[in-house]
Amino acid sequence: MRITVIGCGYLGAVHAASMAELGHDVVGIDIDEAKIAMLASGRAPFYEPGLPELLERSLAGGRLRFTTDMSAARGNRIHFVAVGTPQKPRENAADLRFVDAAIDALVPWLEAGDLVVGKSTVPVGTARGIADRLAESETGASLAWNPEFLREGLAVKDTLHPDRLVYGVPDGDPAGARQLLDEVYAATLSEGTPLVVTDYETAELVKVSANAFLATKISFINAMAEVCEVVGADVTQLADAIGYDARIGRRFLNAGLGFGGGCLPKDIRAFMARAGELGADQALTFLREVDRINMRRRERAVDLVREVLDGSLLGRRIAVLGLAFKPDSDDVRDSPALNVAAMLSLQGAAVICHDPKAVPNSRKRFPELSYTESLDEAVADADVVLVLTEWGDYLEIDPEVLARKVANPIVVDGRNCLDAEAWRAAGWRYRALGRRRMD
Ligand code: NAD
Repeated sequence: MRITVIGCGYLGAVHAASMAELGHDVVGIDIDEAKIAMLASGRAPFYEPGLPELLERSLAGGRLRFTTDMSAARGNRIHFVAVGTPQKPRENAADLRFVDAAIDALVPWLEAGDLVVGKSTVPVGTARGIADRLAESETGASLAWNPEFLREGLAVKDTLHPDRLVYGVPDGDPAGARQLLDEVYAATLSEGTPLVVTDYETAELVKVSANAFLATKISFINAMAEVCEVVGADVTQLADAIGYDARIGRRFLNAGLGFGGGCLPKDIRAFMARAGELGADQALTFLREVDRINMRRRERAVDLVREVLDGSLLGRRIAVLGLAFKPDSDDVRDSPALNVAAMLSLQGAAVICHDPKAVPNSRKRFPELSYTESLDEAVADADVVLVLTEWGDYLEIDPEVLARKVANPIVVDGRNCLDAEAWRAAGWRYRALGRRRMD
């Protein structure tokens, strides 16, 4: 099928390349000229495992191209909208400017029978508004909402082999949106991927409620971590023990610095804001607490570092390992790790930051921090080492070798990801969020 993907960021670039991988003829469109130039030359504008190989194959095969020119959408049958929906400045609500602009720019190129497919995460009610606008445009194009659940770092796998597909279609589906989307995803559906076909509102809500649930699960275990810290209990053992209950499950129960990134924080805030507009704010007041618990973890990490440094951060040399909001990504949007590094620096510590992939993005956001791409340089003469993103590189560190490079062998494990026993055996003072002192 001939497909347009509008917005070529973390979601759209992977979606465009994946659609081409499934055999479709795809054009990716973005307003960011630098991003399009990179993609067109086969380079990924961000770090995502597997994306460069996918781009290379599809560009070489002639099934994929990139442009800033919206007229390239003309003649395509399916038009995915994957533009950003960030949080509005100083408000909880989502900023729909980019979605509105993308639809405005697309409408002149639409033809009868075309299907516009929303993939961006939007407040409930957005799809119906866009469907009305398309109806008014008299183009004969219709709308479906097909929310995206990919995880950065696993985006290629999640796009090609998702846990489920959700289509939001209008009553009676007069334009046959389901059939068109079934053709788009034929290869995925043939693997037995569960499919939920529903109305626009349910489709929009599936996405934000999934994120609200995941955020709640993380903040739940982090709330337990707060209690564990007070009584000297161990939240990792607690998580293992409750996780054995199949009704609870162990996944997403890792206590630590909490969630961040370009989705979970802004999505739960936008969900609360939308519920307020709809007069259903009481239903989601618990999400305010979920957000607060999450943000408190960052402050607690700073307090813990101060504690291990005997009460003073001033001039102390702190090695921060990990800046991305999660491993296998260079995304630092609302990253807890970067936030903690910045707070420590503001309080007078000499912070030196390392990340396998996220240094360039971090530098753009916080140019005043010190960065290095060398792990040895980061830890040299450090008074304390913090592991704030659970990159595989850090899990493989030999604590005995590292101990010889630092000034004080003290480690703060912000993700409960290190082998505490191995680090202690190598002579380190090991401290972590939600766990009793082990030194
Ligand atoms: P992003 O900021 O990486 O990408 C958005 C892209 O849209 C940018 O490249 C921007 O230049 C482009 N854009 C903005 N206005 C445009 C316009 N008028 N025409 C063409 N392009 C335009 O954001 P993202 O992380 O890819 O997220 C996009 C959407 O997908 C958001 O709604 C997000 O919530 C949702 N989502 C993201 C993920 C994820 O893991 N990143 C997962 C699921 C859903």
